[in-house]
Amino acid sequence: CGLFGIWGHPEASELTYMALHSLQHRGQEGAGIVATGGDYLFGARGMGLLTEALSQSQLESLRPFSKSIGHVRYATSDSSALSNVQPFLFKSHIGDLGLAHNGNIVNALQIRRALEDDGAIFQTTSDSEVFAHLLRRAKGPSRKARIKTTLQQLKGAFAFVILHEDAMTVALDDHGVRPLMLGMLDGAYCVASETCAFTAIGAEYIRDLEPGELITISDDGIDFDRYTAFENPSMCSMEYIYFARADSEFRGTSTYTIRKALGEELAKEMDIKADIVIGVPDSSLAAAKGFSDESGIPGEQGLLKNRYVGRTFIASGQEARERAVRMKLSPVRDIVEGKSIIVIDDSIVRGTTSKFIVKALKEAGAREVHMGVSSPPLKNPCYYGIDVSTHAEIIASSKSNEEVREEIGADSLTYLSVERMHQVYERFGSRGQCDACFTGNYPIENTDGLLPQEK
Ligand code: 5GP
Ligand code: SF4
Ligand code: MG
Repeated sequence: CGLFGIWGHPEASELTYMALHSLQHRGQEGAGIVATGGDYLFGARGMGLLTEALSQSQLESLRPFSKSIGHVRYATSDSSALSNVQPFLFKSHIGDLGLAHNGNIVNALQIRRALEDDGAIFQTTSDSEVFAHLLRRAKGPSRKARIKTTLQQLKGAFAFVILHEDAMTVALDDHGVRPLMLGMLDGAYCVASETCAFTAIGAEYIRDLEPGELITISDDGIDFDRYTAFENPSMCSMEYIYFARADSEFRGTSTYTIRKALGEELAKEMDIKADIVIGVPDSSLAAAKGFSDESGIPGEQGLLKNRYVGRTFIASGQEARERAVRMKLSPVRDIVEGKSIIVIDDSIVRGTTSKFIVKALKEAGAREVHMGVSSPPLKNPCYYGIDVSTHAEIIASSKSNEEVREEIGADSLTYLSVERMHQVYERFGSRGQCDACFTGNYPIENTDGLLPQEK
């Protein structure tokens, strides 16, 4: 999912809309904005892409307010229904609450069952809703103390942007699995999942939030705090490999630069001669550039992407995915005809994309198609908010590399090693990465013991 929030700007809701637009790649199933002028919270949300989800009149109704948060939704843990589209808006006589969450809370089900047995009635099937119920019941001298108590009860991956009438609170889980950035525009603080949102609105990127950090922004200024002393940085490696936009920066380095370095490292491991290197657009173009630079094999644009088809992985259902890949990618025949080709993709999950590409390139006359993957073999499901779901769906979870190669029909298949991947992250100042989908070393115990979509 993608988050944004801004406090104290006359164009808060328009800026939120623009920022969400630049975060659209983080979720396409729904979008919403909650805003306030200081009295009550007002919200608008809808299903689908941002432009479909929010109407002009809904945006108009939010225009007067100077404090605003927004969310684009990528459904992993719960069904795609309007009730699950965020930000959630909760009404209460002690004040309203707007809630936007990115990640997946791995003990949400346990908490929810206990709360239900105690009389709580949930409005959604989302793991995020437990936050609101816990906060309303929390005891403590101040709201910040109650927010801390609430956060301390949660396990898993969570970046939160929370709106009250008098403050915006942002928090990041103590592993820092999902990204969250602090910025500023015209003297107003803003937060976003990725720095590309700051670029889109002309804001300045200040810094990445630290794992366990809790920041409160109000008319009194900004308050930096933590909700826990514990800190075990394990940012999602998939954010670098695939998920984040190429121009987004992490600790000052763009994912483009990181992906290019991953491609360079892959070239050191992949000892194959070929006529050209091509990347799978868009997410693998940087890795293909790095591969070409390092290997000396010329890079070409051998595959074209139709920009008007959504991200294939995000489409739900296998048949929909296959159709989407076919609509999305097509070979440039006179570039690939008669050539031996190295195709670089950033990851293989179900194998849908690679299988289609190999077939399409061969049909277009490619002599040999060698697959190079700029990440290690993905073998395990993710419990922390990326839709890499069941073992059954993940092609490399039960198959050897040779079996995967055969299944996708490539002449050879080479993955980046886990070691080289981490070397790249360390080179760019990473403080620690989650690599559980590759290695099975889960940094946070999955307390509920279920895959997100089984909840
Ligand atoms: P596959 O087609 O093998 O199931 O998925 C891999 C392709 O989907 C790659 O081209 C990758 O860029 C893209 N992709 C889209 N969303 C995701 C995601 O959430 N995780 C991963 N690993 N790849 C994704
Ligand atoms: Fe990211 Fe993989 Fe870890 Fe999930 S398991 S948070 S996708 S690195
Ligand atoms: Mg791709």
